[in-house]
Amino acid sequence: MGNLVAIVGRPNVGKSTLFNRLTKTRRAIVQETSGVTRDRHYGKSVWGGKEFSVVDTGGFVKGSDDVFEDEIRKQVVIAIEECNIVIFVVDVETGITDLDEAVANVLRQSKKPVFVVSNKVDNNEREVDSYEFYNFGLGDVYSISAINGSGTGELLDDLIKEL
Ligand code: GDP
Ligand code: MG
Repeated sequence: MGNLVAIVGRPNVGKSTLFNRLTKTRRAIVQETSGVTRDRHYGKSVWGGKEFSVVDTGGFVKGSDDVFEDEIRKQVVIAIEECNIVIFVVDVETGITDLDEAVANVLRQSKKPVFVVSNKVDNNEREVDSYEFYNFGLGDVYSISAINGSGTGELLDDLIKEL
């Protein structure tokens, strides 16, 4: 798959919204059909003249709040194995949850570059709330709004440097 960027995180943080923004494909291709890899969506993206693929993980929990830490952890392990770069999406509206911590614990053991993305920063007031996510110890925090697109340019500028 060449350059592959995985979008990971617990449900409802905005992974799919970001995926759609990066790939501009409303309907992504479903590559896998069973197990924890079900509904992993792949799309293509280009930024600064660099092409890369993006995978949206965790589709299997769509429409369900009944999600288990273990399932999310598996998704993240797979993502780390197959990708070159990880985008770890968290939600500034809710702040850090136990599931976020579980994801962060897996990512901390990875050698792959991780981009911590604070999503739903729809206005400037929420920017300071994103500082909380520095507590993961996973490096810089990128404040974005997947819905309106703000901050995604800065994220992609830095991300393609790792490709
Ligand atoms: P996923 O479960 O992580 O894939 O999350 P989704 O992309 O399905 O989004 C979950 C919810 O968050 C949806 O209602 C989205 O419209 C909403 N959402 C996603 N991105 C943003 C954002 O930047 N700002 C706001 N306010 N809501 C967002
Ligand atoms: Mg989703």
